[in-house]
Amino acid sequence: MIDKVIPYGRQNITQDDINVVIASLQSDYLTQGPQILEFEQAFARYVGSKYAVAVSNGTAALHLSTLALDLKDGDKVITTPITFAASANCVRYCGGEVVFSDIDPNTYLLDITKVKELLKSVPKGTYKGIIPVDFAGRAVDLEAYRELADQYGLWIIEDACHAPGGFFMDNNNSIQNCGNSNFADLAIFSFHPVKHIACGEGGMITTNDKVLYKKLLALRTHGITKNEVEYHNSMNFANGVDSDTIDTYPGWYMEMQTLGFNYRLTDFQAALGISQLKRADEGLLKRRDIASVYNKAFIGKPYIKGQSGIIEGHAYHLYIIEVEDRLGLYNYLRENNIFAQIHYIPCHLMPYYKAFGWKEGDMPNSEEYYKRCISLPMFPTLTIEDQNFVIDKIDFYYGRR
Ligand SMILES: *Cc1c(COP(=O)(O)O)cnc(C)c1O
Repeated sequence: MIDKVIPYGRQNITQDDINVVIASLQSDYLTQGPQILEFEQAFARYVGSKYAVAVSNGTAALHLSTLALDLKDGDKVITTPITFAASANCVRYCGGEVVFSDIDPNTYLLDITKVKELLKSVPKGTYKGIIPVDFAGRAVDLEAYRELADQYGLWIIEDACHAPGGFFMDNNNSIQNCGNSNFADLAIFSFHPVKHIACGEGGMITTNDKVLYKKLLALRTHGITKNEVEYHNSMNFANGVDSDTIDTYPGWYMEMQTLGFNYRLTDFQAALGISQLKRADEGLLKRRDIASVYNKAFIGKPYIKGQSGIIEGHAYHLYIIEVEDRLGLYNYLRENNIFAQIHYIPCHLMPYYKAFGWKEGDMPNSEEYYKRCISLPMFPTLTIEDQNFVIDKIDFYYGRR
C-alpha cells in the first residue's frame, strides 16, 4: 500500500530553479527588472511569436487581451464550456456577453461546424470575437478558425494555457506552434504550478501585432507610459512652468493615458520562468511518454471510451479517459491515494452563467462528456512505478465489477 498521494498534476522545481530565484532576490530588482524582458523574449522564441508580455497570471492575460481588443459592454464572444472558467470570465470583465458553443465529442475542442452555424444564423457583426481553447494540450486548428473569423470580422484569442509546445499541421503541412499568433490575434498562457511551466503565479500574452503589444504593455501597468513621443500634455505643463525656453520633459514625468491595472510579474518569478522554460521540451517529451504508456495500457479495454493512439502535436497537459461509473472510479482511486481530477464542470452550468439563462441540455456533447471524463495523473516527474500503480488500480476496479 502506497501512502503518498499521486496528484493529477504537479510542478517540477529543481536546484537550478531555486538558485536562479535566490540570485534574483539578491539583485537590485524585485519587480520589472531585466529578467522580465529576458523571459518574454525567450518565451516568444519558444512559441514562435514576435512579441510576448509577461503578466501576473493567466486570468490577467485573458483580461488584458479582451481590453486590448476593445471589447465593450454587450459585445458577444464565443467560447467552449469545457474549459477553466477564466476563458469565459474575461469577456464578462469588460461587460461582454459569453456565448457558449458545444464541443466535438471526439476532440473535446470547440466544434467549428457548430460555431459556423451560430455565425450563419445571425447578421454579420453580431459577434466580436472567439476564444478557442487548446483543451488538455490538444492544439486547435486555428487556420480554419482564422478563415471563419476573417469572413465574419472576428478577433481570436487562443487560450493556450494547456499547450506550450503543442502544435497543429496547417494546410501546407507546416507545423504551427500553439501561441505563435500566426492565426490568432493574441494567445495566452498560465504559469500556475499545475501547468507546464511554473512561476508560482504567472501568465504570458503572445502576439505578432505591434499595436496590440504596445497597448498590452501600457495596460499591464496602470495605462502609464514613460515614452516621450507618446505624451499628450505639453512640456510646459509637465515642467510646471510657463517658459518658452523649455525643450524637454522633466525626469519625473509620466502619463496615465488609459485605464490599466497592476498585472505585473515579479523579476524573481520571471527568473524561475526562464529556468523552467529551459526544461520545457524535456517535460513535454516526458508527458508524451506517459501518454503512450496509458495509451498502450488502455488499448482494447472496453470500459475505456477515451481517445487512444498518438495525437500529433498534443502537449498533454491532461490525460483524459471517459468511463462508466466515473464517481465509483474517482472514489476508489482516492481511497488508493490517487487524486484524479475532473476537467471541467461545464462552464455554462456554473450558477453564475445559469443566471444568464444557460441551462442543462443547452450543450449536450459537453454535458455527456462531463458525466464520463476523468483526468489521470500526468506530470513529468510521475514515475513508471506510480503510473503502473494507477493503471493497475483502474484495471482492478473494472475487473471486479
Ligand atoms: C489555468 C488556466 C487559466 C487561468 O490561468 P491562471 O494563471 O490560473 O489565472 C485560463 N484558462 C485555462 C484553460 C487554464 O487552464
